[in-house]
Amino acid sequence: MIENLQLYQKIIVGFSKLSQAMKNKSWERGSQRKISPTQGQILAFLAGRKKDAITSLSDIVDHLGVTAATVSDAVRILTEKGLIKKTVGLDDKRLINHTLTLKGLKLAQEVSEWPDFMNQALDVLPADDHERLFLILIKMIRQLQVRGEIPVSRMCATCQYFRLNMYSDNQRPHHCAFVNEPFGNRNLRLDCPDHQEADAQLLDKNWNELINKK
Ligand code: SF4
Repeated sequence: MIENLQLYQKIIVGFSKLSQAMKNKSWERGSQRKISPTQGQILAFLAGRKKDAITSLSDIVDHLGVTAATVSDAVRILTEKGLIKKTVGLDDKRLINHTLTLKGLKLAQEVSEWPDFMNQALDVLPADDHERLFLILIKMIRQLQVRGEIPVSRMCATCQYFRLNMYSDNQRPHHCAFVNEPFGNRNLRLDCPDHQEADAQLLDKNWNELINKK
């Protein structure tokens, strides 16, 4: 147990070093474009929404997992800069929808390329390690979501359309019932606009299989 705790501690220190490196890069590149990391995250989130999706302030708060005041402030600044536009809902006039302007979309695309320095670090790892690392991250994210430590993200592991290990094909063992296609571990989604939360039975089944998957 003590040995495990010592190893956990080292893993946590490793995560915090990676997180600090990403934060530093994010600040450095954000300050060149005069936007904060939170504003960058909002732009990237809106860019990943479906064209016809309604995005309220509370959707952004839920996704980012920060306070409503922080999001409200960031959205106000992005709106003043002409990067976000707000429109009143057609069916419900109380609903304010947030979408990107063309200028906002362009900046959002640049923002999503910020972690390219991490690509270089990942490039040196053997190809098998990439998938293994990705699966480990999915399991950790799911576990933290269940414990309410981080916001829920719309990932395959919790989706009603996800059929884990449906096929014997190692490259594409899973099935997405939404697009009706097989797919592999590397195509598992972490934030899919077509995600529908799975019922409790499917969630349990997928989770029990996934947690033991190597
Ligand atoms: S709809 Fe999206 S989240 Fe659901 S299984 Fe298909 S790809 Fe995954």
